[in-house]
Amino acid sequence: MDRKIQLFAPYFRTDECLAQIKECLDKGWTGLGFKTVEFEEKWKEYTGLPFAHYLNSSTMGLNLAVEILKEENGWADDDEIITTPLTFISTNHAILLSKLKPMFADVDKYLCLDPVDVLRKITPKTRAIMFVGLGGNTGQWPEIVKIAREHNLKLILDAAHMAGTRLNGKIPGTEADVIVYSFQAVKNCPTGDSGMICFKDAKSDEIVRKKAWLGINKDTYARSVSKDGAYKWMYDVEYVGYKAHGNSVMASLALVSLKYLDVDNEYRRKVAKMYDDAFADCPNIELIPIAPDCESSRHLYQILVPNRDELILKLNAAGIYPGVHYRDNTEYRMYEYARGTCPYAKYVSDHTLSLPMHVRLTEEDVKYIIDTVKKYVSE
Ligand SMILES: *Cc1c(COP(=O)(O)O)cnc(C)c1O
Repeated sequence: MDRKIQLFAPYFRTDECLAQIKECLDKGWTGLGFKTVEFEEKWKEYTGLPFAHYLNSSTMGLNLAVEILKEENGWADDDEIITTPLTFISTNHAILLSKLKPMFADVDKYLCLDPVDVLRKITPKTRAIMFVGLGGNTGQWPEIVKIAREHNLKLILDAAHMAGTRLNGKIPGTEADVIVYSFQAVKNCPTGDSGMICFKDAKSDEIVRKKAWLGINKDTYARSVSKDGAYKWMYDVEYVGYKAHGNSVMASLALVSLKYLDVDNEYRRKVAKMYDDAFADCPNIELIPIAPDCESSRHLYQILVPNRDELILKLNAAGIYPGVHYRDNTEYRMYEYARGTCPYAKYVSDHTLSLPMHVRLTEEDVKYIIDTVKKYVSE
């Protein structure tokens, strides 16, 4: 059998993407501005969020989100952010990079932060909660929002998996102080690499625009003196910043991907339903529920099985390449101080696998995956 079914496979409407990129090349403008601005406007329209700044990755977005919140709110080194151990390392590295401490709370049946454990992990040093909508699920987000309000904590939403997710028919997260999306190639609104940072307030949005471009403040001089742009070089530098902004070639891909985001997510939900229906009566397969009123982007389709490592090897031999989302982060060296504090996350980490989930899968592929999983999942 030479069939190979990958976990993820990005899908681009090549001709439409090339037409967008051609505009950049013809104009001689591939950098910041032009298509990046167009995409920011379209993203705000799509999500209903007030601000959006396009970046070269969501990792940089998370780093900037935590750094700006810390500075603007006067947090001290070693202040704490409650976070999940079941995520890609970008999430928790952002906390460490700002010299803050990740305090891990366990996950619930949706594999998102469990509000009950979040409450237990609050200390006098807690400043914020970092929530990851795992696989596109909103989990108990409304409960987390309540806790943040009651305890006067900031809210960061790592929405890397959530492009297109809706809760009660709306894009969730307006309650967050900052939301960060990923448009990395295998995420739901694919480009090559890029992301979006959406602050709730205008001041932070202004700061992130400067910090993402080396701290340069071009506006002051341009506004006060140079109406014709003759003094473009005469900018001030307000922060020690980064080179983290997005560019017009990536934004070209993003504009096309956004156009098809809802259609593509609908297909992902169809694939998920095929999996759900097929596994519903399998005693050895535990399904992950989607939160009530959540229309998930279905970035992932995860199951829990007794023999995960063995099953993955058998699926590989059959030409199917699943993934694992994620290893419990407290298993990693820099987070080992929290090892053993999140028992359900550890259980999931040992038993979960993510089945292929992307828009290139055919119904026949999905049926083949289902049959092969059923054949090899242990009795
Ligand atoms: C992919 C991912 C990121 C990082 O996104 P990039 O755009 O690749 O930097 C952050 N958090 C989670 C949960 C992710 O899955």
